[in-house]
Order: sequence, then structure tokens, then C-alpha cells
Amino acid sequence: MTPDTQAPLLRSSFAALEGEHAGALPVAVLTADLRLAHVNAAFAALSGFSVDKLSGQPLKGWAPELQAACARAVREDSAQTSLAYTPDHGAPQKVSVWPLHGGPSQIIGVALRTQPLHDEAAVTLALSRPLIQTLTVDDVRQVLLKHALNAVGAYAGTLIEVIDESNLFMVGSAGYGVPVEQSWQQFPAHSGFPVVHAAHTGEAVFATLDDLGQNYPDFLPFIQPATRSFAALPLMVDGRVHLVLTLSFRHTLAGTAGCQRCLRTLVDLAVQALRRAQQYDAACQAQARATLLSDASSALASSLDVKETLDRITALSIHHVADWAAVYLPTAERSITAAAIAHQDPEMVELLRSFVTQSLTEANLPGTPAWSMQTGQAFMLPVVPPALIDQNPDPERRAALHRMGFHSLIHVPLTVQGRVVGVLGLASSHPERTYGPDDLLLAEQLAVRAALALDSALLHEASQLSEQRYRSLIDATRQTVWTNTADGLLLGEQPGWARLTGQDQAAYSRTGWLEAIHPDDRARNLEQWQSAVRARTTYDTHQRVRVADGTYRHFQVRAVPVLQADGMVREWVGVHTDITEQVELEVELERRVEERTVALARSNAELERFAYVASHDLQEPLRTIAGLTGLLERRYADVYDERGRTLLHMVVQGTERMKTLLDDLLVYSRLGAERLTLEPVDTSALVEEALERLSGTLEDSGGRVTYAALPTVLGSHFQLGQLFQNLIGNALKFRTPGLSPEVHIQAVRDEEFWHLTVTDNGIGIEDSYLERIFVMFQRLHTREAYAGTGLGLAICQKVTERHGGRIWVESQPGVGSTFHFTLPSVSISASAANPLSRR
Ligand code: ADP
Repeated sequence: MTPDTQAPLLRSSFAALEGEHAGALPVAVLTADLRLAHVNAAFAALSGFSVDKLSGQPLKGWAPELQAACARAVREDSAQTSLAYTPDHGAPQKVSVWPLHGGPSQIIGVALRTQPLHDEAAVTLALSRPLIQTLTVDDVRQVLLKHALNAVGAYAGTLIEVIDESNLFMVGSAGYGVPVEQSWQQFPAHSGFPVVHAAHTGEAVFATLDDLGQNYPDFLPFIQPATRSFAALPLMVDGRVHLVLTLSFRHTLAGTAGCQRCLRTLVDLAVQALRRAQQYDAACQAQARATLLSDASSALASSLDVKETLDRITALSIHHVADWAAVYLPTAERSITAAAIAHQDPEMVELLRSFVTQSLTEANLPGTPAWSMQTGQAFMLPVVPPALIDQNPDPERRAALHRMGFHSLIHVPLTVQGRVVGVLGLASSHPERTYGPDDLLLAEQLAVRAALALDSALLHEASQLSEQRYRSLIDATRQTVWTNTADGLLLGEQPGWARLTGQDQAAYSRTGWLEAIHPDDRARNLEQWQSAVRARTTYDTHQRVRVADGTYRHFQVRAVPVLQADGMVREWVGVHTDITEQVELEVELERRVEERTVALARSNAELERFAYVASHDLQEPLRTIAGLTGLLERRYADVYDERGRTLLHMVVQGTERMKTLLDDLLVYSRLGAERLTLEPVDTSALVEEALERLSGTLEDSGGRVTYAALPTVLGSHFQLGQLFQNLIGNALKFRTPGLSPEVHIQAVRDEEFWHLTVTDNGIGIEDSYLERIFVMFQRLHTREAYAGTGLGLAICQKVTERHGGRIWVESQPGVGSTFHFTLPSVSISASAANPLSRR
């Protein structure tokens, strides 16, 4: 198509455009090489030239944005819109450019129309359609950054999220260079910045550079060189500012009424969309929370492995509610450790691990997981202060943490029946996810499920460990463990029993095990076992078992019933402990004791015989000596001088003492040698006889002996006579000087025996001598103080023992003594009163 044939086409396109807008808007048609073919008066007015002058002129010299839009329309064969500034006017114009076709895919020119910017209808047109298509708050933000700037003629802008009075975060920007956007990540909330003013008051700020210099001087350094005016628009939903949209303009019109109207239209549209999107987000979140909790319930219920459970908890958390999550468990040293950590970006996990161990394990710092572990309290930090990261001494780590982002934090204790078993930590990296009360509630509900799962897994682990320990213990103790059913049958696999006896399952099943019990023990064991099962009490017995090598070994057997909650027996657990060596040792010991006892008895008997013979045989020569010395003393007293008479007297006394000693020795040794003939003996008669013999002493001492009704006992009259005489004699002898002795004898029945006592008011005996005085020749006094041989009580002991009784003393020095002894009553059979059975 030639230029000539193009001209009518261009003209008709121009006429069509013109007609539609009736000359109100600047309209032009250009040829494909971007020369002006036709312009209207409004268009010419923009340039300051006449319509004629402009015809055929190249577009060069016009606003670069306009040139670029036209070139793009030709190149891409598509409609374009752009902003353009006419040099002298300064007002931005919205330029629309359409490619004009002269035939299939042949572009012959473009049509362009400009339109002043501050047109509320145009703003509505430009924004309502994309905003209607948004669903989420994030979509709304994107649309605002992408379309709103364009619609109102701003060249750049930011979106600031307002979390609370002191926390403002830039969540998006357009038109500025990257460095600006990074340096504004967290907005200095304290400053006198227009954004802060808008966020706090809910009032929009429109300002030229001059206004900014006057009202917000601190903000000036942040203003980009291209900016001529600035707006900060609070987007308020339900009485609260959620976002502030800032806009930077290349022109100074932000404060003009027309511009303000447009911006207000923009705010209205944005707020409407925002409100709807917030509701949508809230609904989605509620849905997501419900899903999370139900996912958590099923995912956590399906594993009993601690590691797996922990990983599931953190995985679920980062999938739904956090950018990273950790589960902390207590350590043996009363500290805590991050047992599982997950991050959206797996490469961050190691960095996180070192961060949490360094910064979060201090129990005294409220808010740390260690603190939650100790106090059982949850903790939420909606906005983490940068100081927490800046405390980290390692600059590289610090930088990495800043890069990773650490915005919001929740720690909730994992509690099971009041016990804190761990702590769940959730963190978000972005202001878009700022934790609030709903998130805390969700975290707590997640924690309830996680705690139960973790507790079960920990219990399972502990029970496995104890099972292992139990097995090792059994192996280590060489004991054999078996289980029986509630009704006492050996069922199922019993590896211990099989190993011990070599019986296989078919052989030992039910009561087959009895076959391995020694035939002599079998009936007794079965009876004991059945009665234990019936009574549900511990089975405790001894038995011989034929072990795998065919020999019999001794076992201590003990089994206990394992009860169910309802008190019924679930099963029996029993243990066979090999005590063969112990039994053999006992048998050997008994044999040796027996041997020694026989030897001892033999040597005792020999000694007694010797004592008997010696004392008996010595009596004869002693009698001769006594007779002769008596004769010497009587007949030849005059022959001796005084000293001679004294010496002679001493010889006589010595002889008498020797006689008494020999008499006592003879009595003592006779007790062992003599056969004991038992007969009923009236003990009151024995007392009377003794008193008869002791009448001299009784008279000398002025003492008194009383006795209650005394029994008839079974014994040797002679020996029991000795017993009573010695005890009453001692009671009178060991009297307190200046005090008349009072002796009382009484008896009480003690089953088959009589328990008799002889009580005096004498000098008494120190505790430490109470046993020693029964030993032969043991005396506590000199012969000068109290005469005696030290054999009296030894004789008493021997007599009571030979009668199957025993003797002992209770005493209090200075107060008196009571000698106790027991003797068989006449009702006792002679065999029961045998000397070996002690009483
Ligand atoms: P002996 O009377 O010949 O000294 P015994 O064997 O009868 O020997 O007594 C041993 C010791 O026990 C006595 O020397 C005396 O110290 C103490 N004893 C015995 N009976 C009494 C008593 N009734 N009161 C205090 N001490 C006693």
C-alpha cells in the first residue's frame, strides 16, 4: 500500500476518533514512521504550535514516554497506554496508542489520544476491574502496586503494613531502585515521617517538596531526586489503618483538589477490595487451621517413633503456620535442646540450630523455650525486636539471620497431664505473617496434639529401653524367666525354660514342665503351684529340676501374679534361680558343724570325766591333809610360836577352801557324767531343804526368804536341789552391807514350762557382767570380800540346760538381782524335755 492509499485510511481513522470525543481530547494520527499525519486543535494546543504547522512533523521532540509508546505499538502490534508530560505544561497526560492496519498485519500508522490524568472516572476504570479480580490481601497489594501508581500518575510508591503503633513494615514497592526498597524494610516508627503520621492518625498526607521540608524535614533525605510531590494514603478497614500507600510524583500536583479527589477515589476502591480480601483471607485461614489440626491429629497419631513424631510436628508447622519451627526437649542436665528443626528453606536449618542453641536456651529469660519448659507458659512475640538478632556476636551469622528474616515468634509448652514434655517454637520471617491471638490459640491446639503424640512416642521409647534392659538383666543374672496363663498353664514360647531344661514347646506345654521336676518334689510342687494360683498369692518354693545335660540342679522358684486394672490375674511371671552351689555349700557346712559338734562333745565329756576323776581322787589325800593339819593345830599348838601358829592356821584354811572347790568341781563334773532320771519334784520342798542347809547364813545375816506357791516340775531332785541352794545362797551372800537380805521366789506357767525367779535386794551386777557370771570360775569379787569358788552359777546353768530350760539374770547395781530360769512342767513328755531343746 502506497502512502497515497494510506492517507484516506489515516484520515478516516482520525475522523472516527475525533467524532467520538468531539474535539475535547487531544487526538492525533501518525504514519508508521511516526510522523504526525493529522492532529486536532486540542493536540496542537499541547505543543503550542498550530495544527497546520504540526502536520508531517516527526514525533521527535515530544515527551519520550509518548514516543516510546508509539514505537511499541508499531513494533508489538498492540495497544499501549503510558504517561507523558508535555514540557511546558508539566501536567501528566495519559496517552493511549492504537496500531492502525492497512491490510492483514500491515501497519500503516498509529492513532493516539491523550487525556488529562486527574479524572476520577478514569481512575475507577483503571482500578476497579483488576481489583474486582483479587481474592487475597496479597492480590490487592499486587494490584495496587501494579495499577494504582499508573492510574493516578505516580512514578513510584510503596505499601507499608501497619502492625501496630510502633511496627511498620514495607511489604512492597514499585518504581524505586532495589537499594531504596531494602533500606526501608522496617520503617522507623518513631520518626516524624508522613507515613507514620498517616498510620497513626488515619489522615492522608499530600505534600509538595516545600510542604515536606516544612512539616517532615527528617524525611527529606529519603526523597528521591525525581520526586516533586508525595502522598501517604492510609487504607483503613474497620477503624484501623492496615496499610499505607505512599506515592511519589514527578509533578507538583499531589496537593491539588483534582489530584486529591482522584487519590481519594483510589483509596475508596482499595479499601473496599481490602475489606473483601481480608474476609476471604480470614475464611481461608480458618479453613487452613481446621485442616492443620485434623492433619495433625491423623499424622501424629500414626507414629510411635520419637524422631519421626518430632519431624512431623515441625513439618506440619512449616506447612501451615510458620516459616520455621522447632521442638525443644529437656536434656539430662536440666537444660533444653532443639530436637527437631524445620525451615521452608532446608539450607537454613543449620544456621537456625546454632542460633536457637545460642540465643533461646536461657531459662531465666522470659520468652525463651527454656522458660516455657520451666514455667509451662506460652509466649508470643508478634514483632521480634532487631536487637535479639543483633545480640549475636558473629557478624556473619547476624547477617544471615537478617537475610533469613525473623519477624514473629510463638513458644508453646507441650503439656500432658500437667507435665511439660517439650516446647514447640514457631517463627515467621515476614511481616505478612505477624502472629496474633488466633495464631497463639492455633499453636496451643497444635501443641495439645503434638504433646500427646510426643508423650506416647517417648513412653514407647522408654518401654522399649526398659524391655532391653530387662532382657540384658535376665541374661546377666543367669536366671530363667517364664510366664504362665492366669489359670496356671505354661503356654506359648518359653525360650528360657526350653534353654534350661532342653524341653521343647510340645514337651513343656500346659503342665508338661512337671516332667522336668525331680520325682520327689513333683507332687509337693504341683500342690503348692495350684494353691498359689487359686489364692493368687506369690508362689515361692524350692525344687530340683532336670536341666538340659540330664543332671538335677536345685532352684529357688518365685512367681508373682500380674494383675489387671480390675484386679483379675492377667498372667504369672516366674523366675527360676539356680541355687545348687548354695545348697551344696549348706550341706557341706552342716556336715562340718555336725563333725565339730561330735568332736567337741567328745572332748567335753573327756574333760568332765577328767575333772570328775581328778576331783574325786584328790578328795582322799586332801582329807588326810585336813585331818593331819587339824591334829597339828589342836595337839601341838603350844610347840609353835605365834608366827608358826598363824602359818598353820593358814594351811588349815587353804585346805578347807580346796575341799569346797573339789566338792563343787565334783558336783559340776557329775552333772555331765550322771544319767538324768526325771521325776516330779516339788520345788517348794527343794526351797525348804536349801533353807535348812543355809540356816546358819540366814541367821547371821538376819535375812528373810519368802516364796509363793511353787510348782512341781519334772527333773532330778538332786540337781534341782543344787540349783535352788546356789541361787538362794548367792542371794543371801551378795547382800548390801547394813541391809538385811530379802529374797523372794515365785513361779509362773509358760506353756509347757515353769518360769521361776529368785529376787534379792543385794548388791546387784553391772550390765557388762550379766552373761559372764555363768562361766566357770568367773567371780567379780575377791575371796576376802565374798567367799566362793566361781562355780555356783556354772552349775546352775548346766542343771537348767540339762533339764531343757535356760537361765538368765536381770539386775540393777545397788538395788538387787532377779535370776530367771525355766524348768519343764510335769505335763511335758519326757522326750520333749530333752536337753537339746533350749528354752
Ligand atoms: P561364787 O558365788 O562362788 O562367787 P557364782 O558362780 O555363784 O560364784 O557367782 C559368780 C559371781 O556372780 C559371783 O562371784 C558374784 O559376783 C555374782 N553373783 C552371783 N549371784 C549374785 C547375786 N545374787 N547378787 C550379786 N552378785 C551375784
